[in-house]
Amino acid sequence: MPIKSLFAAALAMLAGSSALAGPVPIAPAATAFKLGSLRLVALRDMINAVPNDASVFGPQVGVPAVSAVLRQAGAPTDTLPLGVDALLVEMPGHTVLIDTGLGPKVGGSLPKSFAAAGIDPAKVTDVLITHSHGDHVGGLLTADGGLAFPNATIRMAAAEWAFLKSKPDNAALAAAITSKVQTFTPGATVVPGIRSVPLPGHTPGHSGYEITSGKERLLDIGDSAHSAIVSLAKPEWVIAYDTDAKQGMVRREATLAQLAASHERIFAPHFPFPGVGRVVKRGTGYIWQPDLR
Ligand SMILES: [Zn+2]
Repeated sequence: MPIKSLFAAALAMLAGSSALAGPVPIAPAATAFKLGSLRLVALRDMINAVPNDASVFGPQVGVPAVSAVLRQAGAPTDTLPLGVDALLVEMPGHTVLIDTGLGPKVGGSLPKSFAAAGIDPAKVTDVLITHSHGDHVGGLLTADGGLAFPNATIRMAAAEWAFLKSKPDNAALAAAITSKVQTFTPGATVVPGIRSVPLPGHTPGHSGYEITSGKERLLDIGDSAHSAIVSLAKPEWVIAYDTDAKQGMVRREATLAQLAASHERIFAPHFPFPGVGRVVKRGTGYIWQPDLR
């Protein structure tokens, strides 16, 4: 996702324009909830305001079709505001963070959301990365380029680490984190009680993380779906964020079908904060059912 439009978005906001686009700063937020005996905390970083211009959502079907889906859900049709959030899991012996937002360098609120939750980032033992896009790895670094989670092992699929390093733009990030990175093979248990779930398509090593406590489980779906409205109502629509559009679409359809059948709770980092709930079958697609408990 482009981050250079942050300044333009801030200017538009100051000018009172409704034409917001790109990452927009937002107040920190931390919402705790239970999974079995574990305490989980959804942490807010930013909002990504995606214009409804068929550049990201609906490049094949066009603006009117996207507008119709948004209108039916009672949502504004000019912009799709996506959350950019992270998930903290407090486990015996491990404090785990899944994804890190865009980062403080571009105005991300994640450090302040940690403060709101009363959690010291130095206590994080493991950072699990769903994939290497900027809105998931940007917060690995502080505003001055240091390690934001200095005592954490950074875990991602081997294919994703290779993908991250293949991008010249990531050179500084890769150099800063390389001594902390440990890769895994898809499907591996990465921390006791957390299993990686291979979901390639959005990126080559895109992984979800399934957290289990007793009889309860929750899947962090990463970027399997971006809009709680459009991605669920029309999973067959291509989204420009996917590296492999076809594989991304096939994977999204399969993942949503499986989640609706299992009725498993999920955390979706781009759904409306705090992004915890279930996917429910509705017509030819699905709807979002928040379920915090
Ligand atoms: Zn993302």
